[in-house]
Amino acid sequence: MSRGRVVIVGGGVIGTMHAREGRRRDFEVVQLEADEGPRRASVRNFGLVWVSGRAVGAELAAGLRARELWEEVAAEAPGIGFRADGSITVATDEAELAVMKEVAARRDAAERQFELLDAAGVAAANPAVRGEVVGGLLCRRDGVVEPGSVLPAVRERLVGGGGYRWMAGRRAVAVGTGAVVDHRGERHEGDVVVVCPGAAHVGLGGAVGAALAGAPLRRCRLQMMQTTPATQRLVTSVADGDSMRYYPAFDVPARHGLAAPAEETAAFGMQLLLVQRRGGELTIGDTHVYDEPFDFAVEEFLYERLRARAEAVLGWRIPPVARRWAGVYSAATDDRVCFREEVEPGVVVVTGAAGRGMTLSPAMAEQTWEELCR
Ligand SMILES: Cc1cc2nc3c(=O)[nH]c(=O)nc-3n(C[C@H](O)[C@H](O)[C@H](O)COP(=O)(O)OP(=O)(O)OC[C@H]3O[C@@H](n4cnc5c(N)ncnc54)[C@H](O)[C@@H]3O)c2cc1C
Repeated sequence: MSRGRVVIVGGGVIGTMHAREGRRRDFEVVQLEADEGPRRASVRNFGLVWVSGRAVGAELAAGLRARELWEEVAAEAPGIGFRADGSITVATDEAELAVMKEVAARRDAAERQFELLDAAGVAAANPAVRGEVVGGLLCRRDGVVEPGSVLPAVRERLVGGGGYRWMAGRRAVAVGTGAVVDHRGERHEGDVVVVCPGAAHVGLGGAVGAALAGAPLRRCRLQMMQTTPATQRLVTSVADGDSMRYYPAFDVPARHGLAAPAEETAAFGMQLLLVQRRGGELTIGDTHVYDEPFDFAVEEFLYERLRARAEAVLGWRIPPVARRWAGVYSAATDDRVCFREEVEPGVVVVTGAAGRGMTLSPAMAEQTWEELCR
């Protein structure tokens, strides 16, 4: 018997994991998505389930819990393409290796399954990495999913289980306690409403709009590309040493010793992340720009730098690029793992997970529902 009814606004990974968790708790779920199918951050990302970069404390705890939950989701919906592949962050100089040594010596290294590697160790752990590498940090806890497959696979499972209604092409225009009204004027009633709008910080009025307007949130735009299938197989995901500038897990004293990044790439917050898709394609990124309004165009010189960097690390020519795109995510600017607020009775807004939203989404949903059911 249903324990009640929830209306979820937003069909990205955060909304979809909230829908899954609501069904697990025997709530009837209606999920509204403005687009005909989700086309925003949740399908534009790398699909990295990235435990290695998480800050020590609440963020790491959420990352580890989410990693467990991704395995549960994969057991229910194998189509998400979860692989426990791990990752290697490669060092190309001694300063980068020094950061990795400090991180690998920290107490949380065991939970992340970190292992410090020399150059031969990198080649043994991932034979496709044969470039300018002096060592690396293996993180066995990292995983990967297929961003284009996660949402349909989880939804298919929810639809098959009953008690779930997916409504694409329905923009919520009014949200309040007990109900959501969509742009066609249809009213969707629920004991609980969970709003997961991603980077759409404006557009809704009332308490939700006011909360988002005053929230410690900003948006970030990233450039990405994907090659045609590579014949070589990468058995782990790969990051370069620049990634250690951005991920809080690497905030150790040795980080101050990293060489200054090139000015033009620093201005675009560039790092190399490289994931091989199930079909062999390489998803490569990324960059970080916060100043709005965002450019409508993508910068070709950044793609050239990313390609050169990928080839320097791998030591072989990557296949031609088949697709390029940019994506925007919502990021909390305080030290919270995400922005979650009950803005009026029974109406909760959840967003702001930044570049870790794919990773953390199942744990974020679990946490929201624990608070709702308390
Ligand atoms: C390029 C890129 C790479 C990334 N890589 C990774 C990664 O590898 N690993 C990782 O952990 N994270 C990564 N992230 C972050 C991650 O993708 C996001 O944190 C996550 O997808 C956010 O999910 P979401 O559901 O909040 O947002 P979204 O995916 O933006 O979904 C929100 C949805 O809500 C809908 N919506 C908004 N307003 C309304 C309304 N009024 N009515 C109905 N629907 C509405 C939108 O149409 C949208 O579909 C990356 C992000 C980007 C952009």
